[in-house]
Amino acid sequence: MTALLSAAGVAKHYGRTPALTGVDIDVAEGEIVAVTGPSGCGKSTLLHCLAGILRADAGTVTYRDQDLGLWSEKSRSRLRRTDFGVLFQFGQLVPELTAAENVALPLLLAGSGRREARADAQQWLERFGVDHVAEARPGAMSGGQQQRCAVARAMVTQPRVLFADEPTGALDALAGEQVLGELVRAARDQDTAVVLVTHDARVAAYADREVALRDGANDPSGLGVGS
Ligand code: ADP
Ligand code: ADP
Repeated sequence: MTALLSAAGVAKHYGRTPALTGVDIDVAEGEIVAVTGPSGCGKSTLLHCLAGILRADAGTVTYRDQDLGLWSEKSRSRLRRTDFGVLFQFGQLVPELTAAENVALPLLLAGSGRREARADAQQWLERFGVDHVAEARPGAMSGGQQQRCAVARAMVTQPRVLFADEPTGALDALAGEQVLGELVRAARDQDTAVVLVTHDARVAAYADREVALRDGANDPSGLGVGS
């Protein structure tokens, strides 16, 4: 079986700081893969390379048999709008927009009409139990509500791959587990693959598989936080 998304020998430096020195990872269609390891081991950098936000210095990132390193910035940016969803620790909702407008935004950017975008956004807000704050701006919402909206916004385009970097890291344990459970259920329903970056074993336990990093490389012990 060929992977939907894979990295082979991916290396990345920030100036002279090596962040990744040669990482391999495969993600199959609909698979939920946790990328784990201690702070600073390169998890976020790997996620950025896989999502085509950063270009690797060496190695290849392949999506649907295409080498993303050969794509222009414009093509990668379009791919992120159509096929990928991205979710960070702090939802990073647009503060000037309401919850509904935030969730509709990726659809508008992908070319949907206003009415349709609005209706889909409403459905996803309902799905994550935050339709009652549809007209609120992020500043008037709790952390959990904001992160649920951020999950809705990341999933509304029904991406083939969701990139989630410590998606519940800013929430308390209970709220975090709830949001994570809902996210995983939604991903499974849509057959969306998830690259889930975390240093937390309880979060990694939601994944089908764990890829552990250490010092910018695959952890040779192969034992991640969930083991
Ligand atoms: P993790 O997500 O596992 O905490 P990161 O990918 O954020 O790891 O960071 C890997 C290494 O790269 C760390 O040493 C970090 O300090 C460094 N790093 C990350 N981002 C930058 C950046 N924008 N500029 C310089 N160094 C960075
Ligand atoms: P994470 O929770 O993923 O480990 P960090 O707190 O390490 O995130 O990094 C947050 C942001 O700061 C990221 O965008 C990362 O690229 C950047 N960053 C991390 N380390 C450095 C660094 N040493 N120098 C500059 N930017 C960094």
